[in-house]
Formats: sequence, structure tokens, C-alpha cells
Amino acid sequence: MKESLSIIVPCFNEEHVIPEFYRRLHAVLETMTCSSQIIFINDGSRDTSYTLLQDIARKDLSVKLISFSRNFGHQKAVTAGINYCTTDFALIIDADLQDPPELIPQILETLKREEAQVVYCIRTDRQGETPFKKWSAKMFYRCLNFFSEIDLPVDTGDFRLIDRSVIREFNRLQEKGKYIRGLVPWIGFKQVPFYYEREPRFAGETKYPLSKMVKLASTSMSYFSKKPLTLATSLGFFSVGLALVYGLWSLLGKLFGFTHADSGWTSLVLLIVFFGGIQLITIGIMGTYIGNLFDEVKNRPEYIVEETVNFSDSEQEDMEKPRQGTKRNRRKSYLL
Ligand code: UDP
Ligand code: MG
Repeated sequence: MKESLSIIVPCFNEEHVIPEFYRRLHAVLETMTCSSQIIFINDGSRDTSYTLLQDIARKDLSVKLISFSRNFGHQKAVTAGINYCTTDFALIIDADLQDPPELIPQILETLKREEAQVVYCIRTDRQGETPFKKWSAKMFYRCLNFFSEIDLPVDTGDFRLIDRSVIREFNRLQEKGKYIRGLVPWIGFKQVPFYYEREPRFAGETKYPLSKMVKLASTSMSYFSKKPLTLATSLGFFSVGLALVYGLWSLLGKLFGFTHADSGWTSLVLLIVFFGGIQLITIGIMGTYIGNLFDEVKNRPEYIVEETVNFSDSEQEDMEKPRQGTKRNRRKSYLL
């Protein structure tokens, strides 16, 4: 039987790039021998993206559409794409053409040649991005690797190809806060890199403002490492040590007359601010973990699908099988 490939594309307010993205992707898929489908996820777009995607799905039945009830975020959109994917392979790609679709045949070829289960794409160059974004991304990946308990490849995004075994394992993960570029390496199997140059965004603006970047960084750190929690203990020991040394120095100074303790107003204020800061930081770190527990315990669904288009009945039923003992409601679904 012919192998099958799904292309998973999250879209949030991408009206300026969708037609060109589809044109380029379609041209590439036509040259490939395996059967393919495109799964667009409309992540609560407020522009005309939804209508554009519907038009494409109406003309091309291999294009499937999952439309969220509101904006749930990029990671949730990719998660939905993987959850709905029934093919042998899935490739995750952004809609803004920063990751060139023309590379897909080579990526698939690498997976087969290396007999790997995952090909993750590493950016050797990121054109058209601000120096701040490049610098923050670089620092972030290095920092995450220091804190993380597993080895995460640096400078990779979600542009990657995964095979059925990884899709199956991914769908068993029950955590709600998903950091996909960390979870795929965590799943394991043979994972190989693929180097490419990231192009500038084709049109429109980034949908990852600083606030979303910080949220993603927080999820990745707190879901992949317990090290920040132990940081509080280290800081505690450090400050006790510092206090002992300072106390001893003051005492000796008093005895031998080389300090004047009562003139230490500045050092007192500095110490109060310093240790007050350390305490607030550690409370904040603990708060982040408690917040995650709170979200996980609530056990809400990760996303709400308002509508699906061009999914067959069997695919739809597969998705609606009760997971974790909870029955899902049947959603609006139709074939165009
Ligand atoms: N995206 C999404 N939901 C969001 C934010 C982004 O589905 O809340 C999609 C977006 O449409 C794009 C991809 O995620 O296809 C990556 O976003 P973007 O290109 O804006 O991020 P950047 O490349 O600037 O980091
Ligand atoms: Mg982008």
C-alpha cells in the first residue's frame, strides 16, 4: 500500500500568506509519490483566513480543516493536527513560508535513508528576524538545555517530520501544557537532524509577540525540569553562608576595631533588597509549578473544535473515542 503523509499547518490570522503557501505546498506534494493530505488548523483567526481555508478545502478534498472555537495558541493547534492525523507520517510546518515547503521531499528522504522515526529541522540561519528575536531564541535554547533533564536539540522549531510510532506515543501523552519541541525528543526513537536556512516571513507579522514567547518559555522550563525548584534550596544555602561570613567579619571587626557596624546603613538596605528579591523569585518559581498543577488538575480539554471539514466518518469516530474516560460531544463535521 502507498505510504501516506499529512502536512500539519497551524494558522492564526494568516490571510496574507495562505494562498501562496497552499500554491507552493500543493506544487511540492504533486511531485511526491506518496499520498498526501494537508491539515489546516484555524486557531481562532479574526481575519479572512477561515473563509480562505474553506474555499481551498472545497476545491481540494485532500485539504482538511480543523477550526477552533477561539484562539488556543500555536502548540494546541499543532497538537490538534497530530491528534487528527491518521497517516504514516506527519510534517509540522508554519504557514508563513519561513520553513520552505520545497524541502519536504528531502526531509522524507532523510527519514527513510536514516531509518529514523523523527527528522528535526535545525535553522542554520534565520533571515528577516530581528536581532532581539535571534538573540533571545539562542539564549533560550541554551538556558533550557541547562535546566532540562533531557537533551533538547538547539535552534529547532516545530518544523519536523514524525512517523506513526511517534504520532501514536504523542497521542498517549496526557499533559495539557504541551511543549512539542521538547516532547518529541522526550518520546525517543531514532531522531536525526536536517539543516536548513530559515527564510523571512512571506507576508504579515509574527503571531508570537513577547507575551506568547514568555508563556512558551515558562511552559517549556516548568514542564521539562524540576531544577528551578531546587534553585531555592541552593540560594538558601548560599545566603546562609553569606550571612555567616558577614557575621563573622563584623564580629571580628568589632573586636579588632577594623569595622564600624553602626555605619552600615547602605549594606543593610542592600541586604534587605537582595534577600527580599531572592524570596520573591523563589515564591514566583513555586507559584509557576503550582499554577501548572492547577491547570492539569482541572483536566479541561486542550482545545475546543468548532468544526471539521473533509474528515471521513472513520477519522472523525477515531477522534471521538472516549479518552481518559470522558465522552466527547459530537461536533459539526461535513465533507465539502
Ligand atoms: N500560530 C497559531 N496560533 C497562535 C500563534 C501562531 O496557530 O496563537 C501559527 C501561525 O499562524 C504560524 C505559526 O503558528 O503558522 C508560527 O507563528 P509565527 O510565524 O507568527 O511565529 P514566529 O515564526 O514569528 O516565531
Ligand atoms: Mg514564523
